[in-house]
Amino acid sequence: MFFGIRMEEKGNVQMRRNGSVVVLAHCLLNADAKVKGLAEYPGALLSCVLPLLEEGVGVIQLPCPEATFLGGARWGMTREQYDTTAFRRHCRCLLAGTMDQLESHLRSGHSVEGVVGVDGSPSCGVFFSCSGYEGGEISSGGFVERSRNALRRCRGEGIFIAELRALLSEKGIFLPFSAVDEESPEGTTWREVRRKFRHDADGISGEA
Ligand code: SF4
Repeated sequence: MFFGIRMEEKGNVQMRRNGSVVVLAHCLLNADAKVKGLAEYPGALLSCVLPLLEEGVGVIQLPCPEATFLGGARWGMTREQYDTTAFRRHCRCLLAGTMDQLESHLRSGHSVEGVVGVDGSPSCGVFFSCSGYEGGEISSGGFVERSRNALRRCRGEGIFIAELRALLSEKGIFLPFSAVDEESPEGTTWREVRRKFRHDADGISGEA
């Protein structure tokens, strides 16, 4: 797909705009937001981000719901653990500014290509999330082992993405979703992300 550069005249000022933006999960531009031990790349995920920047596509960076809720010293958690009223409210609060940005772009006639999440994340997963921990006292015998054994990747979106979809739907906005795989982020290229956008728009699983 090619996005032509739009030239606009404003008084004597000539502006070069693409008129196209994409929404990226926070850690695709800032791996330091991830749970310790999960950052598979330094800084931004270049295989995904560089090509879109070179095409002149603008980027809206989503906030990181987990780092802003539990901080940088949080444990890795699962979808069930984040599925609380308070976390969902937190997600909605964070997304208010993003929704304002999106509506502003759409009202200006810009194209929003879609939203890119992180598959495997309990918050930002789009096609896959993770499930399994049962909670408990980390220092008492058995809990950690049982939780680790029960941990699994599961189909379905994370809590933050679910709240974003709900907010978009409430506003009557349809956007396709795609995702980078948390387990092999550098194997996901911008081309692959775009392919999943098309599948999502056609109602086909992103893994097709
Ligand atoms: S996947 Fe989402 S919640 Fe996890 S670090 Fe990235 S932005 Fe934060």
